[in-house]
Amino acid sequence: MTALPQLELLGLTNQELTSLVESFGEPRFRARQLFDALYRQRLTALDDISTLPKSLRARLTEAGYRTGFPAVDQRFVSLDGTVRYLVRFSDDQSVETVWMPDGDGVEDTEELLPGAAVPGTVNPADLRPSANAYNPPRRRGTICLSSQSGCAVNCKFCMTALLGLQRNLTAGEIVGQVLLVFNDHGIEIGRDRINLVFMGQGEPFLNYPNFIRAVQLLVEGTGIPESRMTVSTSGIVPRIADLGEPVRPHLAISLNASNNADRERVMPINRKWPLETILEAARQFPLRSRERLTFEYVLLSGVNDAPRNAYEVAELLRGIRAKVNLIALNPGPDIPFQTPSADAVEAFQQRLVAAGIPAYLRRPRGLDIYAACGQLKRTTALISLG
Ligand code: SAH
Ligand code: SF4
Repeated sequence: MTALPQLELLGLTNQELTSLVESFGEPRFRARQLFDALYRQRLTALDDISTLPKSLRARLTEAGYRTGFPAVDQRFVSLDGTVRYLVRFSDDQSVETVWMPDGDGVEDTEELLPGAAVPGTVNPADLRPSANAYNPPRRRGTICLSSQSGCAVNCKFCMTALLGLQRNLTAGEIVGQVLLVFNDHGIEIGRDRINLVFMGQGEPFLNYPNFIRAVQLLVEGTGIPESRMTVSTSGIVPRIADLGEPVRPHLAISLNASNNADRERVMPINRKWPLETILEAARQFPLRSRERLTFEYVLLSGVNDAPRNAYEVAELLRGIRAKVNLIALNPGPDIPFQTPSADAVEAFQQRLVAAGIPAYLRRPRGLDIYAACGQLKRTTALISLG
């Protein structure tokens, strides 16, 4: 007897589910029920989808279909509340997904708008007298998603690079990471304020079709608006232009150096798409009103943190509506760089600000559990909190 194909429903659009239920001789409205069960109710087993007739559930199962929810292999909890999930897919390939309660303050796209809550402060709405067990307070959080298992880009400061590229994730595997974190924390869109950042393992723009499909499914299926999503790229220039579509997340570009010679040394991909091509694509990028491009800059002591580098960055970004997120290197084994002192980081920030470039420090989250930027390499030699 041949094994049944494992056909995963997560990742299918409403339209595709419609074709599927019709091929089983069922009416179209069953597709909407299935779509809601997967993306809104986040039911992990076909058998739990009680809106569908038992017979349909049985026939789908028999034909090899399953929801395709990823499994949580391990869960590491940081002292700062960050949770790193080791997430496993049906072929036993795994990635990491990170939950940061309260966000990290920088991905919050409302941070610069007047009247926006200051990260870490209490939202007055949370103190309303009706907040109780039946009407819990609103929650805020950021989920950092992986788009590939491992990464092929090989940035010299990044621990994910050490894994090499294992494989692309499917759209369902990307969406599944969000759903499992939502289930773990009882998140409700509409009540809770959640940001998504595509900044985990992998280069989203080297898995572009699946990444875009995941964004569309997340918008349509879970109701998270794309204005609460940010994708970060190491600078895959042709895809920067592709992203300029009407429904799209915010864009962050990993700059990480202030000139081509330095950038090539730490990001070999700069040989293929050097700084001038990235900045040209950035200039052409169709920003919405009040939107800014984000440039990330990992500070490496003695490599890219000199006053000269700050002036060069300011020159590069002149004329672009941009802000810079500074990230002091998160260190790790086999990473041949040092983290600059807090004073050096602050001095760099001040130089950018003085040169007219808004610059923010990204505080590291989950450093103690290898969950911070650039630390995702499936570290398991930690105490797991179950
Ligand atoms: N591949 C994409 C997104 C994932 S990396 C990209 O490179 O943009 C997310 C961010 O972490 C990037 O800005 C990257 O430059 C940064 N990063 C990588 N390694 C790091 C490290 N060791 N310390 C701090 N930031 C790091
Ligand atoms: Fe890949 Fe981003 Fe790490 Fe570079 S920084 S190796 S692109 S995950």
